[in-house]
Amino acid sequence: MTEQEKIELQDRIQSVQERIARAAERAGRDPQDIILVAASKMNDAERVRAAIQAGIRVCGENRVQELLEKYEQNAYEGADLQFIGTLQTNKVKYLIGKVSLIQSVGSVHLGEAIAKAAEKHGIRQDILLEVNIGREAAKSGLPPEELDDAIARLSEKKSLHIRGLMAIPPVADETTKNLGYFNEMHQVFVDNLTKKYDNVDMDYLSMGMTNDFETAIACGANMVRIGTAIFGARPYQIVSP
Ligand SMILES: *Cc1c(COP(=O)(O)O)cnc(C)c1O
Repeated sequence: MTEQEKIELQDRIQSVQERIARAAERAGRDPQDIILVAASKMNDAERVRAAIQAGIRVCGENRVQELLEKYEQNAYEGADLQFIGTLQTNKVKYLIGKVSLIQSVGSVHLGEAIAKAAEKHGIRQDILLEVNIGREAAKSGLPPEELDDAIARLSEKKSLHIRGLMAIPPVADETTKNLGYFNEMHQVFVDNLTKKYDNVDMDYLSMGMTNDFETAIACGANMVRIGTAIFGARPYQIVSP
């Protein structure tokens, strides 16, 4: 990375932090209560390190292989590392002990696989349950009506600590910015706040990305996952003829 690129990255991070703070203030909330997760997929170890240098405290990765490669290169030193992507049960074992939070637990089956791996490792793994709030066939996540049952079943696992909910609504429409889905998600979150289960603390509502994070914060998100606004547009792989 050139010095110029580092300065641009710093500027983008500062701008995102300011936008988060303003959105929190508009919603009458403390900016400190909003956790910024830098979605660092397709950005190499050097860029991740530069982002941490510029104030990023939490990194979120999407793909196990990519996470392991960058982990080996000490990309995440000084930051908290989380997993935010689609996860296959056979890859869970590679994450345990490396990530503080697995955000994308969209089925009881996956939750059980994580519980088993965590138990074997002698740790308690923090997770979020992913809700398919848009009820999209192509997307993972629990349909809202299956959430209660999933929480009840996974709360029996002592090696899991359910810390809240995560959602990836449909691609944000420029006018509504997913307002309806975010409100619906917040309602689901609030409904679960009052329920008492073992191993469940509804601390985090993770929703909002580059195109819609201010709306998500207005609707109650306290964790946003932002890639493009921090790192710039993700490069397409150039295939030479
Ligand atoms: C890539 C990604 C993000 C960030 O997306 P941007 O639109 O680039 O901000 C957030 N959450 C998940 C799960 C992602 O895969």
